[in-house]
Amino acid sequence: MSSDTRLDSSGLKSEAMRLGFSLVGVCAPTSPPHLDAYKAWISKGFAGSMDYLERHLPMKSDPRSLLPGASSIVVVGLNYNQTRPEGPERPGIAKYALGRDYHKVIRSKLTKLGRWMALEFPGSQSRACVDSAPIMERDFGQLAGLGWFGKNTLLINSERGSWFFLGVLLTTVELALDEPSEGGCGTCNRCIDACPTGAIVNLDGRWQVDARSCISYLTIEHADSIESDLARRMNGWTVGCDVCQDVCPFNTPRATQPLRATPTQEPDFNVRSWPSLIELANLSEGAWDELTRGSAARRVGVEQMRRNARINIENATRFSD
Ligand code: SF4
Ligand code: SF4
Repeated sequence: MSSDTRLDSSGLKSEAMRLGFSLVGVCAPTSPPHLDAYKAWISKGFAGSMDYLERHLPMKSDPRSLLPGASSIVVVGLNYNQTRPEGPERPGIAKYALGRDYHKVIRSKLTKLGRWMALEFPGSQSRACVDSAPIMERDFGQLAGLGWFGKNTLLINSERGSWFFLGVLLTTVELALDEPSEGGCGTCNRCIDACPTGAIVNLDGRWQVDARSCISYLTIEHADSIESDLARRMNGWTVGCDVCQDVCPFNTPRATQPLRATPTQEPDFNVRSWPSLIELANLSEGAWDELTRGSAARRVGVEQMRRNARINIENATRFSD
């Protein structure tokens, strides 16, 4: 089917918005444009211990391997911006992990969108992918017009900023394609300068995050002890780190950009009650189970949670001496 005979996607987009997504676009299931850069990132060791990323490469190279016969990729964005509870005794919890697990929230919405597609386009098939599926969401997000790559490697939407999750619905329906997003950081270097561990580095002319020194990776993915020089720079972060988004001008509200940094309307993301750092440092398995049930923070195991909290208590003690 040529591009001008692809089917109108306006009904699908209205339905996606009705389900609560704030962004939606469509692109073709091509090879991801940044696949080579991604391979170079892995081969430099920047993925740390996330070995599974390399194992997923064959599927990441070809999105059709996730849904044979896929003709379009619908990419959606869900706003998760909200105020982080802060205070000297409080653990730093990245905004993405404050409420209900976004995988569950987005998957539920995408499943409903898939059902709508099945009714609207009988005989069609679709498959929902949320973060954990081996697909390069950000590449397809850019191709579908949702945003462009910032130097912090996140997808930035010029009107909304970067506080949004991405979800993908592969479909066999040949939908009209959107224009790729264009934009850039220009001379801004705020995230690079503000990153507490210097994790945003230039690799072959492209800005990349070296996971091995990124607080987000260290607090969530890294199971072993954290090197003391990096641990000293954790600045209270206990689950993830938001610094490179906090400082981004595209996340700063402006009168001329009414959609920028607006609070999420998703009730499932309402912030949960989080224990103090001291309580987290002594968390029992049972308390961890209760605290992280249905939360994306469950990826941080009980020992890692205790470790992260203890490091931040030690840091606070050291800096107050
Ligand atoms: S998440 Fe934090 S540590 Fe990682 S790149 Fe961003 S600012 Fe640096
Ligand atoms: S802080 Fe500046 S350099 Fe970093 S992603 Fe935002 S606009 Fe780009």
